[in-house]
Amino acid sequence: MKQNRKTTGKSVLAALLFLALMSGCTAADTNPENMDAASEQAKIAGTKEAPAEKEAGSEKEENHPAAEQDLGEEGTLTVTFLDVGQGNAVLVEQDGEYMLIDGGDREYSSFVVSFLKEQGVDELEYVIASHYDADHLNGVVGALNVFPCELVLAPDYTADSRVYDSFLNIIEEKDVALAYPAVGDTYTLGGAEFTVVCPDGYDAPDANDNSVGVRLTYGETSFLICGDAGTGVERRMMESGITLDSDVYLASHHGSNGSSSLAFLQAVSPETVVISAGLSNSYGHPMAEVLENIQSVGAALYRTDLQGTLVAVSDGSTVTWNVPPCTDYRDGETLEAAGAGAEVEGEPASAGAGTEGEPGAASAGEETEGEPGAALAGAEGEPEEAASGAGTEMTGETGEKEVEAEIYDSAEGTGDMQAEYVMNRNTKKFHLPSCASAADIAPENKANFTGSREELIAAGYEPCKRCNP
Ligand SMILES: [Zn+2]
Ligand SMILES: [Zn+2]
Repeated sequence: MKQNRKTTGKSVLAALLFLALMSGCTAADTNPENMDAASEQAKIAGTKEAPAEKEAGSEKEENHPAAEQDLGEEGTLTVTFLDVGQGNAVLVEQDGEYMLIDGGDREYSSFVVSFLKEQGVDELEYVIASHYDADHLNGVVGALNVFPCELVLAPDYTADSRVYDSFLNIIEEKDVALAYPAVGDTYTLGGAEFTVVCPDGYDAPDANDNSVGVRLTYGETSFLICGDAGTGVERRMMESGITLDSDVYLASHHGSNGSSSLAFLQAVSPETVVISAGLSNSYGHPMAEVLENIQSVGAALYRTDLQGTLVAVSDGSTVTWNVPPCTDYRDGETLEAAGAGAEVEGEPASAGAGTEGEPGAASAGEETEGEPGAALAGAEGEPEEAASGAGTEMTGETGEKEVEAEIYDSAEGTGDMQAEYVMNRNTKKFHLPSCASAADIAPENKANFTGSREELIAAGYEPCKRCNP
């Protein structure tokens, strides 16, 4: 019926237009029939018609309340894959509500907290601790120390580690609600929603397979993030019939070949795969097999080890990124052999390369296991220097273009003043203390240097192409 009316309307449109022109009538004409014609013209010109003229379903109604706060852009979901070296940390924002999924390892804990503060986070709706391995949990403890949180989702097993104890302590101390979710449990974050897709039990012998994984949806777009879940878990997810198809997939376990099987990737059928790994990590992540699987399903590749922090913005129908996809398919082993950090060609500066990092931050490289009395108690005493990487201005409030511009801007030189650098005596490269690559330098090759970059260059050292010191 609606269709009929519209067809009729169109068939008389030409006549109406003709009449309108002949009679010199204007849009102010109150004749309803002429109003129709005017609105049709407006539509052609790309102008929004009055609500009364809107065809049902022609435009998705945003059901967010009017903006009372200007946190985040209404009508977008922002998913930020923080560069936390060898680890995972994902910040999700919709309509001013935030969720943190994992927080990276100890040396990035302060960076994660600073990053969240820069985004304007003052509380977290959810924190997901996918599992209790240090490269996921430390930053979670750091964040819980600083930000109130409505609900923590975590797996129901115990770990024998200091960071796990810290995790339990902070939850108790701050009286945070903790839930061990089951497959199919669904939660809302603003206008977005996420459903637990794994694990189907919490008794896996390998802690990675206890990872809480979620499929996050916003409008027609979707993101799949499953911690370090292995191929056995992937197989059971496929068998369960749960929806896996997603636009963006965060490769489980940092691109290890113990995850992201070809069959699973085919089931997920992602447009984009993100790998969160540390450059020159000792595990050889990401692995060649996974990179091949990504290519064979035709997905675009993004990787934090080569591109730094990655920002995906969904408007409900399309996902856009702060940088172009990565075209470097070298695996972790190859990069490590090549003296990683040095070999990153033409990549934009990583988000860790901010020039606003506090230069006074405690010097890098104190490999201490001790508690330096950091404010972020409980996170196994992460050295302060991690915070110095938090200088970029990537904010969820800014449009995607601005985010991009700011990242590129942050690559601007830092001048020739005295500063602190981290040297790799093996590769003869030098880095900002905040550089993700610096954190990955083997202790025996790592040294701190305070002085000018010119001195380092004169001594035969080359600036890292990633952090542009
Ligand atoms: Zn793990
Ligand atoms: Zn991990």
